[in-house]
Amino acid sequence: MSWEANVRRVVPYTPGEQPKLQDVIKLNTNENPYPPAPGVERILREFDIARMRKYPDPNAQHLVDAIAASYGVKPSQVFVGVGSDDVLSMAFLTFFAGDKPVLFPDVTYSFYDVWADVYRIPYAQLPLTEDLRIDPDDYKRENGGIIFPNPNAPTGVLESLDTIGEIVRANPDSVVIVDEAYIDFGGVSALSLLDEYENLLIVQTFSKSRSMAGVRIGFAIGSEKLIGFMNDVKFSVNSYTMNQLTIECGAAALADPAYFRETTQRICETREWAKQQLTALGFTFPDSRSNFIFARHSTADAGALFAALKARHIFVRYWNKPRIDQYLRITIGTPDEMEALFKALAEILQEMGDRQ
Ligand SMILES: *Cc1c(COP(=O)(O)O)cnc(C)c1O
Repeated sequence: MSWEANVRRVVPYTPGEQPKLQDVIKLNTNENPYPPAPGVERILREFDIARMRKYPDPNAQHLVDAIAASYGVKPSQVFVGVGSDDVLSMAFLTFFAGDKPVLFPDVTYSFYDVWADVYRIPYAQLPLTEDLRIDPDDYKRENGGIIFPNPNAPTGVLESLDTIGEIVRANPDSVVIVDEAYIDFGGVSALSLLDEYENLLIVQTFSKSRSMAGVRIGFAIGSEKLIGFMNDVKFSVNSYTMNQLTIECGAAALADPAYFRETTQRICETREWAKQQLTALGFTFPDSRSNFIFARHSTADAGALFAALKARHIFVRYWNKPRIDQYLRITIGTPDEMEALFKALAEILQEMGDRQ
C-alpha cells in the first residue's frame, strides 16, 4: 500500500456554475438580484486598512451582538461562521458524533450527505412524500440527529411550525437542525420554538435574503448550551474564521431593516408573478416560499430545456438525478431578467413543439 491508503477520500459537493461569460442571466444559485444594504458600501469606503495588520476578533463579537439584537436573543445564543456552509459543517462535526444514522430528506440540500461522508457520520435519506413534503412521522425513529431546510431546497416547500415542533418534540435525544437559508421570503422562522427546546438549532445566512453571498456570513441561533459546544469545536479547528471587514459589513447590513424588508418583499412579488407566467407556459411546481421555483414542464424534457436556455446564456439549475431529473430550479431575479427567461422559454417550447 502507499500513502494513498491514509487519505480521507470523499466525493465533493458540486456548487452551481459561476459562468465566466459576460451578459448572462444568472438564475442558477439563488443569489439576490439586488445590491446589499447601502450601509455596507460605507463600511468598505471607510475601512481603516491599518487594521488588516492585526488578527480579527476571534469571537466576532460586534456581529454576534448585532445578530442577537436583531433576533431578540442573547449573544451567547449566537454562533457565526463563514457562510452557513461553515456553520452547518461545524454543527455536523459538533452534534452528529453518535453511531446512529443522522436523518434528512432524500431530496434536499446536496451538501448534507457530503458533510456526513467527510466526517464519517452514518446517515439515512428519508424520501419526501409524492408531493415533495416532509412527513413528520418519518422522523420518529432512532437517530443520531436530524437536519432539513425549511423551506426545503430545491423544492421551495415551506413546512409549518406545527410540523417542526412535532419533529423536535419527538426527538428529545437528538439535536434537530433547521436550515432556514430561505426563511426570509415569506416563511415563519422556528426561532419562537427556541424557548421550549434546548436541542433545536436554527441556521440562517446572509447569502440570499441579504444579498451577500460573496461576503460569506452565516449564523446559528440555539440554546446557550448548543452554542457553547459549537464554539468549543470551532476554537479547536480555526479561531479566526471571520475577517474584520466581514464582521463590520454584516453588522451594517443588519442596521437597515427597512431595506431588507423592501428587497425581500420585491422578490416575493416577482416570485408570485413568475408562478403565473410559468403556469401559462405549461409548467407545474410545488408552491414556493423561497427565492426560487422548482418547476417541471408538462411535455418538454428538463435537461433539454436547461441546455437550450444555457445556449441563450440563461443559467438555471438542473440535476440529472433520480426523482428530480425533470425539474428546473429557477432563481427569482429582477422582473427584467424573469421577462427575458419567459420570452426564451416561450421560443424554446415553440421550437421543440415544431420539431415534433
Ligand atoms: C445556499 C444554502 C446554504 C449555504 O449558504 P451560504 O452561502 O454558505 O451561507 C445552506 N443551506 C441551504 C439549503 C442553501 O440553499
